[in-house]
Amino acid sequence: MRSLTLALLSLCAAMLLAMPTRAQEPAVDLIIRAGTLIDGTSDNPIKNQVIFIKGDRIIKVSGDTGTLSGKNVIDLSNSTVLPGLIDSHTHIFLWGEDPAKGGYDANILKAGIALRAARATFACRRALEQGFTTLRDVETEGAGYGDVEIREAITEGTIPGPRLFCATRAISSTGGYNLEGYAPELDMPKGAQIIDGPVEARKAARQQLDHGADWIKVYMTHRSWVDKQGHLVSQPTLTVEELKAIVDEAHGWGKKVACHAYNGIGLQRALDGGCDSIEHGLDMTEAQVKQMAAQGTWYCPTLQIYYEDWAPEDTPGGKRDRARAALHEASYKRALQAHLKIVFGTDIGGMPWTESIAREFPRMVNLGMSPMDAIQAATSRAAELLGQGNDLGVVAPGAYADLVAVAHDPLADVKELLNVSFVMKDGVVFRGASGGSR
Ligand SMILES: [Zn+2]
Repeated sequence: MRSLTLALLSLCAAMLLAMPTRAQEPAVDLIIRAGTLIDGTSDNPIKNQVIFIKGDRIIKVSGDTGTLSGKNVIDLSNSTVLPGLIDSHTHIFLWGEDPAKGGYDANILKAGIALRAARATFACRRALEQGFTTLRDVETEGAGYGDVEIREAITEGTIPGPRLFCATRAISSTGGYNLEGYAPELDMPKGAQIIDGPVEARKAARQQLDHGADWIKVYMTHRSWVDKQGHLVSQPTLTVEELKAIVDEAHGWGKKVACHAYNGIGLQRALDGGCDSIEHGLDMTEAQVKQMAAQGTWYCPTLQIYYEDWAPEDTPGGKRDRARAALHEASYKRALQAHLKIVFGTDIGGMPWTESIAREFPRMVNLGMSPMDAIQAATSRAAELLGQGNDLGVVAPGAYADLVAVAHDPLADVKELLNVSFVMKDGVVFRGASGGSR
């Protein structure tokens, strides 16, 4: 009996010794020395800061006394550190629309779901290595709920990638989305979920939300062309009633609705139907910009993609391409003047994932936005759009430890953001920095 008691006592002692005590726990996991910090919300950069990280969160930011060293210290004292970047308009399941490679249709007709998933995996890695730690991915283009599953693969650590906010299938109306132009006898797959009438609209929203959509994406315009007077015209798709049913349903689930809308009737219906963000907004009138300001509608312009792959100048397509870019510039400037809530978005996927995502920054700045505003459009403002204001897009205590660094000053030359040298997501180093990674 006595020997049994002794054995039990020694077993308990061994267990106590093996248990980590609070005193043994390190106060932080990683410390980052930032030569310059652009924190995502402040008007000005701050020199010589130290960011303390525990687990996946930032727990403290304070002045650098220069005394910190050790293997858990990442020295970025010669760099500018920023919050992880957010692209608010991507398509991880789209592999470019180059006509020479079969255009949009080849994405759906020539690639099976496994190939598409592999490409989406590549896209996610590409985004992360360029410093985009969060994406609002606005439609899978016929790949169903694949985005939700890629999101799951990233969350469980199976593949590297940004945080994904997924829109799943998107919604348009009959005649309002690709694939099109095939023999009417053929039942072609569509890149979006097609609905007609408010009942079908609401049902589609419910199905998508049920299957894990973080956002709902709708198409309010489809084809566009230049008419005889030289005006850009866009075919409207959903009615106000259809959109209202979707918005009402999404808002009931605490989710928002992103509206692809170029101009004209479709854009007006998007605003009257209460959409939360206008995507592209190529030709927004003064009155429409005013309505957006009054309603608090977000604007995600995606400028760069409208400079890609212009058709020859003297063709109808070429005229349309040039008109779109010119009108877009004017609309963007109107939006700047009205202080609309603008977020950084690229539509990448529509252009190949091998292209640099950050090319949107110089477009935004060259047309009149300050570099600091452009950075905030891709950090704190985008986080606000996503309803993640204190968690993402800022370098502050309590936020996720999503950080990037560049060698030089992006406020002096915003193109610096095309050369991100350090990327951390969730407190784990993905790129750059010798030592310090866990
Ligand atoms: Zn898009």
